[in-house]
Amino acid sequence: MSGLLTEPTAEILAFMARSHRLFIDGIWVDPGSDRLIEVENPATEETIAQLHAASLADLDRAVAAARAALDGPWGRMPPAMRAKLLYRLADLMEAAALDLGQLSTLENGMPLWMSMDKLAAFCPELVRYYAGWCTKIAGDTLSAVPIRGESDDWLVYTLRQPIGVVGAIIPWNAPASMITLKAAPALAAGCTMVLKPAEMTPLLAIRFTELIEEAGFPAGVFNLVQGYGDDIGDGIARHPGIDKVAFTGSTAVGKAIVRAAADDLKRVSLELGGKSPVIVCADADLDVAAPSAAAACFFLSGQNCMAGTRLFVEESIAEEFEERLVAAAKTFVVGDGFAPGTMIGPLISAKQLARVKSFIDEADNAGARRVFGGNIPDQKGHFVAPAVFADVTPDMRLAQEEVFGPVLAVQRFRQDNEGELLARVNGTTYGLSGSVWTRDISRALRLAKHVDSGQVGVNAHAAVSPETPFGGNKQSGWGREFGREGLDAYLKTKAVSVNLGPHL
Ligand code: NAP
Ligand code: MG
Repeated sequence: MSGLLTEPTAEILAFMARSHRLFIDGIWVDPGSDRLIEVENPATEETIAQLHAASLADLDRAVAAARAALDGPWGRMPPAMRAKLLYRLADLMEAAALDLGQLSTLENGMPLWMSMDKLAAFCPELVRYYAGWCTKIAGDTLSAVPIRGESDDWLVYTLRQPIGVVGAIIPWNAPASMITLKAAPALAAGCTMVLKPAEMTPLLAIRFTELIEEAGFPAGVFNLVQGYGDDIGDGIARHPGIDKVAFTGSTAVGKAIVRAAADDLKRVSLELGGKSPVIVCADADLDVAAPSAAAACFFLSGQNCMAGTRLFVEESIAEEFEERLVAAAKTFVVGDGFAPGTMIGPLISAKQLARVKSFIDEADNAGARRVFGGNIPDQKGHFVAPAVFADVTPDMRLAQEEVFGPVLAVQRFRQDNEGELLARVNGTTYGLSGSVWTRDISRALRLAKHVDSGQVGVNAHAAVSPETPFGGNKQSGWGREFGREGLDAYLKTKAVSVNLGPHL
């Protein structure tokens, strides 16, 4: 953590203070709406930037530009050239990591070391991973004989083609990862994009878009429309010129998007909320499991879709493990993302802090045992100390609903009743992530098989990599991001059946 900035650079302060525009058809343009977006630093409650939102007319222009690019030079560009642009983008992101890192910390609150190490370093690799796919997109040649009888000689093959214009809508909790996860696979597949960042975190998206411009992507391939969910987000979901909506955010908004997209049946992929289980068996390496379980919940101040917020610990070690969790929780120093030693930053907003507090108060009143944290310091910034609740029962709101804050709910289980354990583990509407901690290989793989979620870690939580598909079961989402499936989500298959005529 040494050698990091302890305050924003003059360059980044100047960047934030300037007037901000939309990026449409390769040109920076003034937003058409009077609605103002005020960007707050959640650690200081200061307004760090102001910008006007895009209007629905701006959105129309962005969609038209994205369509024209698809029908123009971008659509005809050889895959190797698309790859080259993406590799160049990855290099530019690396070179601009200090800008992207600072902006992410300033608008989101996460510690600067995390913005720099985990996100700025991870994102260029994700872009390179998808750049590599550009030249490997391929259909199949099939040994099919269609049953029409006109001919006994056929050539049947499939083409994999870009879905078209993608409308991407992303949340505020990890600005760099979210924008990369949408742009990299979509552009690798040959799609074009109109992106709406979260209203609370539009700044990193603007700097990222400058890098897209610098990399030399043709006009209209990537368009940025900063705006509000209730008009630009909803407008994307309804827009007849958009072929697919790629959404990450809350389950409630995901459902609204599906309804809005139903009129023209556009494709929708959804990465939604979670309430992920962490199962700790008595034979686990507790020296590793306890700090890892705390990190699984408190990482990003709990504002993390894959957070391990429900911990199931075997009864025989429960008391000792709860003490270890408390010791681990104490190491999560809460503070300004620029302060040396900060492990977790503030929550994103006063509203989010009030929501998290309501969960803590309700858990107190419902009879859960608060063994650590949850206090709100009397200072500027939306800070809350990480909280550990023991004796949580499955009916409590804390055991069922996503808090999106650093609040861990501990339940106990008995080794001799795995069926009952799994019923509780799978007894929520979510199914995003999860982990199993044990040295017993059969037990680990058995539990991993039966946890109803898109990914499960064994002696690890949220082991995300560019190659590994990620996404939710149940109300945690539709589809997968990352890996080959993440690319497939932006491709459609066309089958071509060629009648070669009768044998002569
Ligand atoms: P959110 O309120 O659902 O907002 C997400 C995005 O949707 C924002 O850009 C928002 O715009 C926009 N939006 C709001 N209302 C809309 C509408 N009616 N139509 C279209 N778009 C609309 O979520 P959030 O509070 O920002 O983020 C937290 C949630 O994201 C959590 O539930 C978390 O689990 C989930 N998440 C999931 C993943 C995953 O990969 N599964 C990853 C990260 C986060 P505004 O900013 O203007 O509201
Ligand atoms: Mg919101």
